[in-house]
Amino acid sequence: MAKKALAAQESSGHAGLDISTSAVRTCIGCRKADARDQLIRLVRSTNNSGTTVALVDVHARMPGRGAWLHPGLECWRLAIKRRAIGRALPGVTDVRDVELLAEQDLRKQA
Ligand SMILES: [Zn+2]
Repeated sequence: MAKKALAAQESSGHAGLDISTSAVRTCIGCRKADARDQLIRLVRSTNNSGTTVALVDVHARMPGRGAWLHPGLECWRLAIKRRAIGRALPGVTDVRDVELLAEQDLRKQA
């Protein structure tokens, strides 16, 4: 009895992308939308010397214009490389705080 190989059936699983939560934000690194609590918030602020900076808003509670990033290094690198932070937060000239966090994560994961 000849057994015929069944062609792998590709079941396009539309199992229901049910994003019922309205709190979806777009990562400025990879540009993918994700739930708010999966992303880290960056906020535009002004430091002591009057420079407009991007700060990492760990608790997502700081006032000011915000941008969102995945906690993954890839996204941070992309955002810094593409200068996406300055675009998402106009006026920001100093992203050291963001770079610092990216570097710290880099060392942690290395
Ligand atoms: Zn991302």
